[in-house]
Amino acid sequence: MYVGGKWVEGKGESRAIIDPSSGKVIAEISDASSEQVNEAVWAAKKAFEKTEWSQNTSDRVGLLRQLAALLEHSTEALARIESRNTGKPIRESRLDVHDAVACLRYYADLVESRREYQKEMNDGTYSLITEEPIGVCALIVPWNFPLLLGMWKLAPALAAGNTVVFKPSELTPLSFIKLTELAEKVGMPDGVFNLILGGTEVGQALVSHPEIDKVSFTGGTETGKHIYRECAKTMKRVSLELGGKSPLLVFDDADVDTAVDWALYGSFFNQGQVCVASSRLLVHHSLEQEFLKKLTARLAKIRIGNPLDESTEMGPVISLQHLRKIEEFIQIGQSEGATLLAGGQRTGDENGYYLTPAVFTHVHQQMRIVQEEIFGPVVTVQPFYDEEEAIDLANGTKYGLAAGIFSKDVERAKRVAARLRAGTVWINGYHTPYVEAPWGGFKQSGIGRELGPHGLAAFMEPKHTNIRHQLQPIGWYS
Ligand code: NAD
Repeated sequence: MYVGGKWVEGKGESRAIIDPSSGKVIAEISDASSEQVNEAVWAAKKAFEKTEWSQNTSDRVGLLRQLAALLEHSTEALARIESRNTGKPIRESRLDVHDAVACLRYYADLVESRREYQKEMNDGTYSLITEEPIGVCALIVPWNFPLLLGMWKLAPALAAGNTVVFKPSELTPLSFIKLTELAEKVGMPDGVFNLILGGTEVGQALVSHPEIDKVSFTGGTETGKHIYRECAKTMKRVSLELGGKSPLLVFDDADVDTAVDWALYGSFFNQGQVCVASSRLLVHHSLEQEFLKKLTARLAKIRIGNPLDESTEMGPVISLQHLRKIEEFIQIGQSEGATLLAGGQRTGDENGYYLTPAVFTHVHQQMRIVQEEIFGPVVTVQPFYDEEEAIDLANGTKYGLAAGIFSKDVERAKRVAARLRAGTVWINGYHTPYVEAPWGGFKQSGIGRELGPHGLAAFMEPKHTNIRHQLQPIGWYS
């Protein structure tokens, strides 16, 4: 762990970090004790209150750019660490590092270009509208994109002038340990960036700490609800990026080959362990049979294997526990009466957590496999007959993270997009996050947005300072 500018050994329980492609232990780490969580929070508080960090934008911008350069230089090392720890194919890990570098640079540029806003008011006074850092931020992320999702929080939090205590997932701490080594090299003031390791207990100690001013959390919806309640106790600011069950709509005028190609990418990138994964494919009934035929033919060709092999297109899922959870959902789907058209079998190295991508048909909207987030390589395919039905099905879950629409008629697609209750809608595409555009969910997929200017605003408090240049009494009382 890294607390107050020093590397320290965790005093909590020790934990084995597993390579999901082989089930082998690749590192041993120790969790933080609750006392160490407390020390990290106080180190961050001291750095916020007693250093120039929160005031000196140009220093911060310079350090973030240096960190971006170091990270870029370490792309291959970071990508290999990420693939070994998460099981994601190496080409996907390289993308994550690239996007993390872009995120750092974007927020350095954005914060540098900000101007304070001054306005003359009706009564002749001047108002200064500024935005200030919130204070000490707890940043908590899951295991599916450890480096990238961490950076979506870390870059804007630091750019805005906050200090942070960062907690990666207990399953995937390795890339952020490496990132912390790079951050140490750029020389931020001690306590600005603290890394603590551990699972639920450590996370709980962090979000319930009274000196934390803001919690930014990415993870499951149930954990998010719990954290929301916890934060209410001391009115902490809170951002929640939670689960999804996102639909991809294929209209009757879509090109089937293109739609299938994007559906594979939308559904099975990172083994389907993506919050916005297109896990519900809604296909116009006139195309359904052709779509299914082409989808299953392409599925059978996906190269599943070792994440570090350059030709691998799909790796293992994150853990044995998660593999079993996905398999349980596959059984639930079958017992609910759905047809498992393809996949859902273990494959590859028997010690690794490999599963062939699964497709369910003959599903209906109330089935658990349609309503609940499986977070793995499992999709359902449902036919629809008209636009209205497609929208009803698309909106018919508690989630609202993302959606995709395939149609040659972009005007129609835009009309449908406007009625989808989702934070991101891709038309004739899927999955790409743009660092300039907001990311987050409607409904139970979360609160607030990351990325873009919204992502910076999430780490700032607006302040109004009203200035009266001419001294005169108000004379309100006699
Ligand atoms: P999780 O909720 O189990 O854990 C996420 C993080 O929260 C981990 O670091 C964990 O240690 C920590 N945590 C657990 N209990 C806590 C508590 N009581 N207090 C504080 N911290 C606690 O989620 P997961 O299984 O790691 O990740 C999968 C989930 O993340 C999926 O639901 C997925 O949709 C979601 N996700 C959302 C987005 C998004 O942008 N909306 C992105 C990626 C993943």
